[in-house]
Amino acid sequence: MSDVSLEALRRRTFAIISHPDAGKTTLTEKLLLFGGAIQMAGSVKGRKAARHATSDWMALEKERGISVTSSVMQFPYEGRIVNLLDTPGHADFGEDTYRVLTAVDSALMVIDVAKGVEERTIKLMEVCRLRDTPIMTFINKLDREGKSPVDLLDEVESVLGIQCAPVTWPIGMGQRLKGVVHLITGEVHLYEQGRNFTRQDSTIFASLDDPALEARIGTPMLQEVRDELELVQGASHPFDPAAYLSGKQTPVFFGSAVNNFGVQLLLDFFIEHAPSPKPRGTTSREVAPYEQHLSGFVFKIQANMDPQHRDRVAFMRICSGKFSAGMKAFQPRTGKEVKLANALTFMASDREIAESAWPGDVIGIHNHGTISIGDSFSEGEMLSFTGIPNFAPELFRRARLRDPLKLKQLQKGLAQLSEEGATQFFRPLMSNDLILGAVGMLQFDVVAYRLKDEYGVDASFEQVNVATARWIKCADAKKLEEFRDKNAMNLSIDAAGELVYLAPTRVNLQLAQERAPGVQFLATREHA
Ligand code: GDP
Repeated sequence: MSDVSLEALRRRTFAIISHPDAGKTTLTEKLLLFGGAIQMAGSVKGRKAARHATSDWMALEKERGISVTSSVMQFPYEGRIVNLLDTPGHADFGEDTYRVLTAVDSALMVIDVAKGVEERTIKLMEVCRLRDTPIMTFINKLDREGKSPVDLLDEVESVLGIQCAPVTWPIGMGQRLKGVVHLITGEVHLYEQGRNFTRQDSTIFASLDDPALEARIGTPMLQEVRDELELVQGASHPFDPAAYLSGKQTPVFFGSAVNNFGVQLLLDFFIEHAPSPKPRGTTSREVAPYEQHLSGFVFKIQANMDPQHRDRVAFMRICSGKFSAGMKAFQPRTGKEVKLANALTFMASDREIAESAWPGDVIGIHNHGTISIGDSFSEGEMLSFTGIPNFAPELFRRARLRDPLKLKQLQKGLAQLSEEGATQFFRPLMSNDLILGAVGMLQFDVVAYRLKDEYGVDASFEQVNVATARWIKCADAKKLEEFRDKNAMNLSIDAAGELVYLAPTRVNLQLAQERAPGVQFLATREHA
């Protein structure tokens, strides 16, 4: 087997999806702990501490600076290489969060045992659906009272529309939490606060029938879990690797991240079953990870990581071949061959200069605005990857200029900043408004600051009557023309020159759709 095949096969590239406060940060730390990358755990925390200050730019900058080091976390585990891509979650939630999910091979969903399936999780799950991304589920905070495990599985199945296959099952909950039983190996892992840092540091029984277990947790508790399991095994699905890999079934684990509990069982199962990089589509053909030539695409751009150097870092997910420092690759959007120098990798303890990287890995490429979201890079042949969309913004603001003479700079600034992918910029057909759309609130503050700092434009953002956006597509040119005439009031052009319907309300959107059969209203737009 070639080096590329071997390296690709041992990669596990994933992201964690969750509603804020479900425990993503804590679980990330514990995974890094089990992965032996303990130093990183500190910086995950540091980032969290910085997240509360929103409008203070220094704090923002700091947050963005730190978040770049934890944007991608790589650690070795049991002979595999794990790449955990961060999905910004609280104030820093944005379109990047969605787009990261196009760059992973699987996802881990964290659910709070007391809160169940929450709104943010539903949205992130919808994004995973676009590519049928395989998902594992961790039900967290079992040391607290919550919903019954059976109800939670029902909720996941009905709200998220995915089959659940419990892999571990809790014995008690909250004050009465005794442990979990592994439904595939039969092992019982006891919950002991302050322990479970390693397998050696855990009390494990071979099965529920172990007499020592009964002595430890008592007959009534044991009977209770036996009864429950009988019910569950009749009503739920056994783990089916094919159903998991096609995104139809999610293996479910129970635990308490803050207590290290249930995390290693999850990680061990993840390492064994989560997919390695798969072939990806381009405009011309499918590219397999084991191909010898390098290829990859840019899913995220981060500016101003270091205020001293006004550069940007483009995050490229490698899809095939081997990356070596200083190599050249084609950039099909520009048609040029460029040198990929000074790339960063994100190995465990710190950012460092990349010597080499493999399919599934992410590298950071320094540039001065020459790389855009959705750009592909490929060696030997021009390949443009598909499936790296823009997502319809959910928040909209109208830019208000204090000095009308700065209109040109404002337009330029908004257009360039939107290339980084955190915001989108719309120009209505019927007015001179400049409308900015984002998925997260913080982005408006960031744009206002950067307009001033980098473009010398003093602008603010005010409320505008737009609830949602849809890209308009129609194969029939005459029909499109008609639609355009009738709906001009609600139509805009985005930064890429595409037609977009800006709906003042959801009801308006629905009516417009009903009135225009044959016209497509798309919630995502592929990069050209
Ligand atoms: P995030 O917003 O999803 O990243 O969530 P965090 O990891 O920051 O966790 C949110 C809060 O829940 C923090 O106060 C954590 O200490 C707490 N937390 C995380 N895991 C557990 C757990 O297993 N049990 C309990 N009781 N609290 C937890």
